[in-house]
Amino acid sequence: MEEHKKNPCIRCDVSQCRHNLCTEHYCTLDSISVGTHEEDPTVPECTDCNSFVRRSGGCE
Ligand code: SF4
Repeated sequence: MEEHKKNPCIRCDVSQCRHNLCTEHYCTLDSISVGTHEEDPTVPECTDCNSFVRRSGGCE
């Protein structure tokens, strides 16, 4: 099984992401890339984690 070590600096609830330690709600990457799909972002919903990768299985 792939080793997953949580990054305590990046809390994340996106359990559908391969990089998410869904039992603890943290990201396991050393760093992430955040962007936006809006021209003039005004609320959190305007931003995206561009490091997201769809998980193929369920939450381990
Ligand atoms: S890559 Fe982004 S979406 Fe995926 S667990 Fe990390 S912070 Fe969450």
